[in-house]
Amino acid sequence: MPLTVLEHPLAEDLLSRLRQRDTGPAEFRTLTRRLGWLLVVEATRDLMTERVTIDTPLEEAKGFRIAEPLVAIPVLRAGLGLLDAATDLYPDTVVGYLGLERDEETLEPRDYYAKLPPMEGRRALVLDPMLATGGSGTAAITHVKTHANPTSISFVCVVAAPEGVARLEADHPEVPIVAGALDRRLNDVGFILPGLGDFGDRLHGTDV
Ligand code: URA
Repeated sequence: MPLTVLEHPLAEDLLSRLRQRDTGPAEFRTLTRRLGWLLVVEATRDLMTERVTIDTPLEEAKGFRIAEPLVAIPVLRAGLGLLDAATDLYPDTVVGYLGLERDEETLEPRDYYAKLPPMEGRRALVLDPMLATGGSGTAAITHVKTHANPTSISFVCVVAAPEGVARLEADHPEVPIVAGALDRRLNDVGFILPGLGDFGDRLHGTDV
């Protein structure tokens, strides 16, 4: 099972505040960034390192350096909320953008923008906060596999629905999913229950 759900009191607290309907965009962005740190830490816990020799003020010692830098790929526009978390923790991260929007009738993704950097030697983190039907998630991963060659791909989301997890597991079984929560189900228009509403609207303040 490639799904890992954060189990940490801080993650639960941050996510509950995100879910709260009266949390405004300023707080929503800050909470997303803080939860993003925990998600990115979890998604990179097995990152390759190399041994180095360092000089402490007292003596020579063995140390480690990250040997598998990242490429972060926020899926526009909601994924932008998680981008700072990746670059805060890993400043050498390069960034690619994928614009996918949901067709509200078919619920299937439509891509309208793609700008991906070379990914050789890097782990790709696909950032898409709401794993609902899995349509945009699977399309984003397929796009990365088709156009680039990262060392591996991980999918990072804030909330996952069982339907989306099943879709990604079926289409991309080798891609680990890291989520803040696994929610109950989708409603009949593709929103996650209990969820937190439209992530992009709440992040960008466009739900008025
Ligand atoms: N996208 C969102 O922003 N929220 C959902 O609940 C489902 C998809």
